[in-house]
Parts: sequence; C-alpha cells; structure tokens
Amino acid sequence: MQRFREGIHIRTMKAKRKVEEISKEDIKAFLKKNAFVLFTVAAVVVGIILGFALRPYKMTYREVKYFSFPGELLMRMLQMLVLPLLVSSLITGMAALDSKASGKMGMRAVIYYMTTTFIAVFIGILIVLIIHPGKGSKAEFGKQQKIEQISPADAFLDLIRNMFPPNLVQACTQQFKTRYGKRVVHVTVTVNDTIFNNSTNGTQEVMEITREEVIPVPGQVNGVNALGLVVFSMCFGLIIGNMKEQGQLLRDFFDSLNEAIMRLVAIIMWYAPIGILFLIAGKIVEMDDLTQMGGQLGMYTITVIIGLLIHGVLILPTLYFVITRQNPFIFIAGLLQALVTALGTSSSSATLPVTFKCLEENNKIDKRITRFVLPVGATINMDGTALYEALAALFIAQVNNIEMNFGQIITISITATAASIGAAGIPQAGLVTMVIVLTSVGLPTDDITLIIAVDWFLDRLRTTTNVLGDSIGAGIVEFLSRHELRSKDVEMGNSVLEEKERKKPYKLISQDSDFENDKRTHSESNM
Ligand code: ASP
Repeated sequence: MQRFREGIHIRTMKAKRKVEEISKEDIKAFLKKNAFVLFTVAAVVVGIILGFALRPYKMTYREVKYFSFPGELLMRMLQMLVLPLLVSSLITGMAALDSKASGKMGMRAVIYYMTTTFIAVFIGILIVLIIHPGKGSKAEFGKQQKIEQISPADAFLDLIRNMFPPNLVQACTQQFKTRYGKRVVHVTVTVNDTIFNNSTNGTQEVMEITREEVIPVPGQVNGVNALGLVVFSMCFGLIIGNMKEQGQLLRDFFDSLNEAIMRLVAIIMWYAPIGILFLIAGKIVEMDDLTQMGGQLGMYTITVIIGLLIHGVLILPTLYFVITRQNPFIFIAGLLQALVTALGTSSSSATLPVTFKCLEENNKIDKRITRFVLPVGATINMDGTALYEALAALFIAQVNNIEMNFGQIITISITATAASIGAAGIPQAGLVTMVIVLTSVGLPTDDITLIIAVDWFLDRLRTTTNVLGDSIGAGIVEFLSRHELRSKDVEMGNSVLEEKERKKPYKLISQDSDFENDKRTHSESNM
C-alpha cells in the first residue's frame, strides 16, 4: 500500500514538473517569438508614463530636444533606408512579374486604394455631420497664423508634375511646388471718346494701363519626391522584367540591394523600441497644456478618433474577411510592430521598412506582392489622411457657421481623396495638403491653425490607419492574385520567392509544382 502511494506521489510529481517545464518552455518560446512586439508595446507604455512624469518639470525647448534625441535618431535611421528600399523593392517587384500579371495586380491594388479611400472619406463626412463638433464660434481657439495658399488646379498639376521628375537625383531630395509671383502687365484698352469729352463725333482713344497680375512660378520644397521615384521604379522594373536574360544583371543587382537593406532593417529593429519610447515621451513633454483639449477641439479630437476606429477596426477587417475568408485580427496581430512604429514616428514612409518585415515574416505575404503594393501604398494610399481631411474641412465650416450644400460636400470628398494622394508619408503632411480641400469650397485656409494644437496626436492615429490600410491591401491583393502568382511559380523558379515553407495552401501547391517541374526537367535531361 505504502509503495503504491509512493508510486502515485512520484508520478504526480513528475507530471507536475512536466507541466511546469512545458509551460516554462512555452513561455520562453512565446517571449522569444514576440520579443520585438512586446518590447515595442512596452516602449509605448513606458514612453507615455515617462512623458507625463516629466511634464511637471517644465523642460525648456532645448532640454526637450536633447531628451528626444534617441527618438530623432530612430527617425533618421528609418528615413535613411526608405529611399533605397522603395526603389529596389519596386524594381524587383515589377521585374518579377510579366506585364500582364503586374497589370492585373496593379489594377486590383488601385481599385482597393480608391474604394477604401472613398469609404474613409464617407465615414469622415458622416461622423462629423452626426457628432457636429464645431459650434460656430472661434472664441476659444488660439492665435491664428498665415497659411501659404495654393489653388486646387495648381496643386493637382503639381501632383502630375511630380510623377515625372526631370532630374532623378534631385527627386531624391526635392519636390516641385508651385509658388506665386507678381508680374506687371501692360494692357491696351480702346476707350470711346464720347465718355471723356462728351463729344458726339464718336472718335476712339487708345490707352495703356499697367496692372499687377499674380502668376504661378516654378518652385521647390525639400523632401523626397516619392511619387516620382515610384513611377520611375515601376516603369524601370517592368522594362527589366521584359528584357529576359539581358536584364538579369540589373535584376540581380536590385534584388541583392533589397536583401541587404532588409538586413539593415532587421538590425535597426532592435533599436526601434528605445527610439519609440523617446519619441513618444518627448512629444508628451513638449505638448501644449491639456486644458486646450476641452470644448470644440476636444469634441473634434474624439470625432476623428471615432472615425478612424470605425475605419480601422470595423471596415478594413470586414473587407479583409469578406474577400479572403481569413481571420483579420490574426493578420493585424502580425502587424502590431509596424502599427506601433507608425504611432511613434507619425510617418508611413519611415514605417515602410518595418511594415515590410512584419508582412513578409509574420504574415508570410509573397514578396512579389509586398514589393509592389507597399511602396505604392505608402506613397498614395492614405485612408486615415483622407478621412481626416474631409472631417477637418467640415469642422472648419461648422466653426465658421457655414452650411455646406451637397455639391460642396461632394467637392470636399473628391479633393480630400486627391489631397491624401498628394500628401507625403511624413509627419503632418496632411495638414499642408488640406489647403487644397479648403480652397476648393471657399473655406478660410488660415483656419487650419485652429486644429494645429491637436494635430501631432491625430497625425499619429491617422498614420497608423494609413499603414493598416496598406498592409490589409497587400493581404487582399495577394489573395486575389494567387492564381497568377502560382502560374508564375510553375513557369519559372522565381528569384524573388524565398524557398521557405509557407503557410498558405496555394503556395505549397505551387512549390510542389515547382518540384514536379524540376523532377521532370531532370529526368528529361537524363534521358
Ligand atoms: N503623417 C501621415 C503619414 O505619414 C500623413 C499625414 O499627415 O496625414 O502617413
């Protein structure tokens, strides 16, 4: 009996130890796998706590700048990689597909971008009309500054001009922007003499009048002309793809460049949590008094947050689920680090390297898709910005007590879409392009300054929505393009595709087919 009891005791102890061991190992494996994500999320939390803890010390501007220095370094590191990453990924991405496949894929991406941007604008308009955060008084807002004006027509032409940069080297540092100058013009007018001399003989006098005329003149602003580089890289990649063996050298070069940049990204990602911590803490220390957030501005902030949440948590995941029939939240969980980086940097361009890493490594999205969809998406697809611009324009109308009619609301939705396409993926770019939306319906552009106080915060949220929109787009486009990708895999061993085991069933089939093909070629050559 005694031995029996001991036996049971030993077995129970062993089982207990096993459970303990398994759970410890499990935890370790989980921590190892999700270390980056956990660090990054922890960085946000610590950053917020640190920021609020330091606020009472009322740091000077210089001290805040020193304090945020580690964050500034992260921004610089990420921005350093954006240019070579954007160019090399687009070129290799386009070169890996034939023109028919990339045409179809491009079509799907553009349809996705347009649909989601319009939905975002619609949500923005609906939510601001329902909540009505503007009360028709500007009394509680801070001082106003002058905002640089630009006519919608010139802004639209600038967008197209920037697509075709005359100098590629300059496109890496500058963008075209119309400025306004004055010109003296001499106009000859013919005046009927009757008016002056009260004579009846009807003679005519020619007079010369000089007047000043505002004219558009070419100008430049600092910043990467991403749109121009995207257009060039896409065309270049497509041509290389069509050049067959002759283009192989260039294909290999850009492929290898891309791989090297991604390895640099992997190193920088170790530093990202520290950078994000200081970016967030620095911003919280620096921000204006929170009492400003009361009243209309507070309501406006809440309205924007609700709009972005509806789009990011409801619309985009539903769209993903309806099309792919897969769980969107598992997909979003894989993107967590990119989303937090977007929140920290408020730049979808700077987040691009991290977005690539998350989509390719965590969500196993085909590189031929990410390399095409992500750089284009980061440049032109900005759901959060579109939603924000439409909402903000209507808020400014409400504050000014101006009723917008249906036609004007349609104009706002079209210009907000264009403005989001034209906005660069850099902090607060949306605020600059909002001038176009306001001038299109005759709203005072100087009133943009009313919302500047909260823009740094809302910018982070809309950037996160922008990155989410691009990433979900990559998932959807990959699903819709699976047949072309598979047939391309069967056709040739793809240089872009890494031969890792992939989770997706269609990928496994394609790799099997590759294997079958290889076997056949071998046996044929042996014969
Ligand atoms: N900061 C945003 C982005 O990088 C653009 C904006 O200001 O809306 O996506």
